[in-house]
Amino acid sequence: MFQPIWRRVLADGQAALDAQHPGSKVVTAETFRSQEDQDKDLAAGLTLVRIGWHQYGLAADFRIIDPLGVYVEDGADPRYAVVGGIAAKLGCHYPVILSHGRPDYDHVQMGGFTLVQYQTWLKAHPLPEAA
Ligand SMILES: [Zn+2]
Repeated sequence: MFQPIWRRVLADGQAALDAQHPGSKVVTAETFRSQEDQDKDLAAGLTLVRIGWHQYGLAADFRIIDPLGVYVEDGADPRYAVVGGIAAKLGCHYPVILSHGRPDYDHVQMGGFTLVQYQTWLKAHPLPEAA
């Protein structure tokens, strides 16, 4: 569900970087996340939720790589907002503001519904049992 949109975010985001910040690249850092990995991130303080969009495959994190091939770790770098702005234009949710008020600058998630709405929909539309 999210993958075709994410591919478009990467392609259009890269085109925007090429125009505004030549030589910089956008790459995927993480998409689907297991419960085990989410629990590790929670314990490390990297996330504030036990169940999130990544575990449904409906979110992706990205990295900006500078023209020298170095990972840009500063989320305030304007190149993050360039790619995030493309994601928002494509209907994704960006920026997501974390509960302590800081934007999750490298995170893009599906737009158009809340995670609770999606979980409710999934309960009402269970997958058929395997034969
Ligand atoms: Zn994320």
